[in-house]
Amino acid sequence: MTVSFRKIQSSARILNPFKGHALDELPFEIRFDPLTGETGRVFDLPFKAEKPRIEAIIERSGEIFCPFCPEVLEKSTPAFPEDIIPGGRLKVGRASVIPNLVPFDQYAGVTVFSDEHYIPMEKLTPETMRDAFLASLLFLKRIEEIDLTVRFFSINWNYMPPAGSSIVHPHLQPNAGAVPTNHVRLQLEGAARYAREHQGDYWADFIEAEKRSKERYVGEMGSTFWIMSFLPMSFLPDVSCIFPERRFLSELREDDLLPFLEGLARILRAYLEENVSSFNVALFAVRDAPNFRINARICPRLLPRPIGNSDIAFPQMLHRESFTVYSPESVCGKFRELFNRNSR
Ligand SMILES: [Zn+2]
Repeated sequence: MTVSFRKIQSSARILNPFKGHALDELPFEIRFDPLTGETGRVFDLPFKAEKPRIEAIIERSGEIFCPFCPEVLEKSTPAFPEDIIPGGRLKVGRASVIPNLVPFDQYAGVTVFSDEHYIPMEKLTPETMRDAFLASLLFLKRIEEIDLTVRFFSINWNYMPPAGSSIVHPHLQPNAGAVPTNHVRLQLEGAARYAREHQGDYWADFIEAEKRSKERYVGEMGSTFWIMSFLPMSFLPDVSCIFPERRFLSELREDDLLPFLEGLARILRAYLEENVSSFNVALFAVRDAPNFRINARICPRLLPRPIGNSDIAFPQMLHRESFTVYSPESVCGKFRELFNRNSR
């Protein structure tokens, strides 16, 4: 058992105006990601997000052209060449995968959930999310089959404008290409380094360590393992999901999506309780890296103050350093309780 959860406790000294300008210390932590070695700052601040005014965003979106609404989708969106997707668009139930006009990678899709222009976060259930995730998975599996040079796959989601989405109409973005993104490359390098240095499997050791400590353990859903990330990526603590039995995209089955979506829906409900109504999700998969496990991350997104400032600023943008206002451990109990409360 050699997974290291390293952190440096530090503090800054000030003369505090709220304590009569007496000498005071403001504590913070510098944490090291146990897999990638990346660092980030974790504070202990009394932050509580205010409920955002979603209605104004929905109203504004109604005044702007939406290419994903059913009456214009066929005409206003592109189609894939026949050799990529026969028929041009991949459809599953109410969901359609179409090409992304802003191609993030060689194969870049947009999966429109359904005819509904807006799905409130509380209505994001396994039932409402299933078609879109299944269509995205089938799209990636099709690419895996037709282009052997492609090794890196992901299903991505910006939910609502504070998470970067320019279109309110719910959609996923499945991507596939030959070059990993920084995060996937660091995960692969970290897992290979761990195997070399410890003659062990990082993911198995990590899950065992987290289950034993219980500090960040959220729960399990079918074959998926859920945890508050030791080093969050976002302004509020984020959640990671691991598929311990799934190394490659080819091993990810349609059946695996249901427990994942059940877990995701419960995490989203927990974030709603924290007044979070916007988020990013990414699910990462590879073609053939024996040290890898399919995994996903759910990052809450928000405009932290009433002035509407971004939750991403110079630390993340220019230093590639995350900062998180309170620790994952401080909210883990709440998340674990909500995650395990209502067995469906
Ligand atoms: Zn729409």
